[in-house]
Amino acid sequence: KLCAVSLSALMLTGAGAAQKLCAELGKFEPHEILLNPGALSLKGLDGFIRSRLKASVELLDEPAFAYERALENVRAQFPPKEIEGAGLMNLRATVMALGALIAYIDATQMAGQTDSDGKSARVACLDRIHYYVGDVYMNLDVSARRNLELTETMRTKEKKGSLLWVLDRTATPMGKRMIRGVLERPLVSPVAIQARQNAVEELCGDAILRDDIRQKLRGISDIERLMTRIVYGSANAREIRALAYAAESLPGIRESLRGMKSGELRQIRDAIDPLDDIRLLAEKALVEEPPLTVREGGMIRPGYCKDLDVLNGDMSGGKEFIASIEEKERSRTGIQRLKVGYNRVFGYYIEVSNASKDLVPKEYIRKQTLANCERYITEELKEMEGRVLGARDRIVKLEYELFEDIRKQVAACQSRVQQTADAIARLDVWSSFAEVAVRGNYTRPLVNTSGRIILKDSRHPVVEAVSGEPFVPNDVYLDGGENRVAIITGPNMAGKSTYMRQVAIITLMAQCGSFVPAASAEIGVVDSIFTRVGASDDLASGQSTFMVEMNEVAYILENATADSLLVLDEIGRGTSTFDGMSIARAVLEYVADKKKLGAKALFATHYHELTEMEEQLKGVKNYSVAVKKRGEDITFLRRIVRGGADQSYGIEVAKLAGIPDGVVRRARQILRQLESGRPEATKKKEETRQTAISFTPPGEAEAIFRLKNLDINHLTPMQAIGVLSELAELVK
Ligand code: ADP
Repeated sequence: KLCAVSLSALMLTGAGAAQKLCAELGKFEPHEILLNPGALSLKGLDGFIRSRLKASVELLDEPAFAYERALENVRAQFPPKEIEGAGLMNLRATVMALGALIAYIDATQMAGQTDSDGKSARVACLDRIHYYVGDVYMNLDVSARRNLELTETMRTKEKKGSLLWVLDRTATPMGKRMIRGVLERPLVSPVAIQARQNAVEELCGDAILRDDIRQKLRGISDIERLMTRIVYGSANAREIRALAYAAESLPGIRESLRGMKSGELRQIRDAIDPLDDIRLLAEKALVEEPPLTVREGGMIRPGYCKDLDVLNGDMSGGKEFIASIEEKERSRTGIQRLKVGYNRVFGYYIEVSNASKDLVPKEYIRKQTLANCERYITEELKEMEGRVLGARDRIVKLEYELFEDIRKQVAACQSRVQQTADAIARLDVWSSFAEVAVRGNYTRPLVNTSGRIILKDSRHPVVEAVSGEPFVPNDVYLDGGENRVAIITGPNMAGKSTYMRQVAIITLMAQCGSFVPAASAEIGVVDSIFTRVGASDDLASGQSTFMVEMNEVAYILENATADSLLVLDEIGRGTSTFDGMSIARAVLEYVADKKKLGAKALFATHYHELTEMEEQLKGVKNYSVAVKKRGEDITFLRRIVRGGADQSYGIEVAKLAGIPDGVVRRARQILRQLESGRPEATKKKEETRQTAISFTPPGEAEAIFRLKNLDINHLTPMQAIGVLSELAELVK
């Protein structure tokens, strides 16, 4: 059983098998995992956590999961209707896990915190349970997230240059947090996706309204965070004012949403509570700019509490009286520069400069001597001081009590605030999607369960945003049938990986409810996206790049289904040509075969020999990145066209990259020699003039070569048998 907790949401689900558990963990990428030690015996769990998550694992003792105790914890934490709503009473193991979790959070995070009643604040913010069954989210593991650069770039680990960077135009902290989660957890149900799309579409349609909403959203600070502090009793008066100030925008937002048609926007409108009570309370009770500390008074507005007003009256009366003493003493003593002052250590005093020392009356009591003056007190001053300071102490105490009470009243509104914060976050994210869609000329994809991914004139949202060059749009046609697997060939730097990532990112965006950068799009939802690309970040792990690559491929083949989308870039590059090509081909066969995997896949390779597979395997189609060749120079056209590349163009790319002319010439010479020395290649060229070179494993090539050069007329029968067995060995 597992669940994910943030301050606003508890997600709970059950996972029958270890593999499902791993998949679910992968979707959430937890920072910390609590395990029953028994769970370590689940097949593959330990390895999965170690190799694919960056989570710390906490093993809890068996008794922490004991049902009775767990149930007690759950009951103490959640209102009965939540427990009932989630059907927890029938989910024994889930209760055990949840109970252990609550106890753990209690013991760690909340240690030492008490709420305003003095009892432990506990997991005060956790009062709703979201129990889900089956797959709500797309399977998106760590490496897919990283490779597709969802929230940070691979190289610099910065947000700039990531998909989030393009899509995040949110205006509130709640929206900013939510959009990240939305991108990391795309949905799988077309109905749920369409609900989001309808909201985005409606917001796209009216620029003035969208601007108006976004403007109002900007006025809303982090009410979720403020509320958390209020509930835990750590918020000061300024924070309660801040919450009230944010609430001022809420009625306006509700008003803007009036008349919206999409179900999601209407739900958002209903969920937004104007929080008038909190606002009125704060305005009535707290001064406009309260101090940061709650222990020195100065927070409560006059008129809120009679007793406080009386005390304040006493204090200011006393202060005025003290001020009048200055005037009185000046004329009585004739000391013109006599002053009444106050400091924290000595309290009130009368200050007389040394020049007028002789005029000081004898009833003045000396208190402090400074370099050029003396400070005194009088009986009268002392008495007034006692009154003023006494009132002050009582004021501070009373203000704190009043404030505690206000904080408690606001804390009691927790679920309404949380629900409002959540609605604001959603509105913010959908408006952000709409804003980006309008500015970027995106379209609403048709999302269904057709199994097809068809894009017309699609673009890579990030590359088009950062690159100085105009982006060349491309089409995509993948379906579950004849066009399952696209082999994409073309020289390095032609744009293969950009194209493949583009398809994956657009699919992901569509399943998040976002519009997509294309002229038109149909997205049959996929259950997962797997990627195997580049090896740039593998060095740090200490494993050989080839080993890492094969690990990843193994993981993908084991976990992908027919409904998955695979992006495989240069499989088999990390080893020798023939090895690599053999592995690439075998993987391709496995992926394409409906009886084995039959997933949709984009497969980029510089082994242009693999293009012959189109004819041999159902569902495989060749594509290549068009290149214009003039003499010995090439230009990248960035257009994806049907058909395989005829050659690798490695030398041309090397030339483009600035390898010296002499070296390039020599490479061409070597290539010609190599090609003429490869019997199967020559044969193909001569006989069929096909562009693609036949794929023949090295042993067979050698066997054919030997056969061709065999002089049968001069072999004895014994020698013939020897040759035959050698040949048989070669082709085994
Ligand atoms: P490959 O995977 O074939 O080696 P990349 O996908 O890395 O090539 O692309 C190389 C460069 O070409 C990228 O830096 C990208 O900016 C640019 N590029 C790729 N596709 C396009 C396109 N459709 N339009 C414009 N520029 C592109």
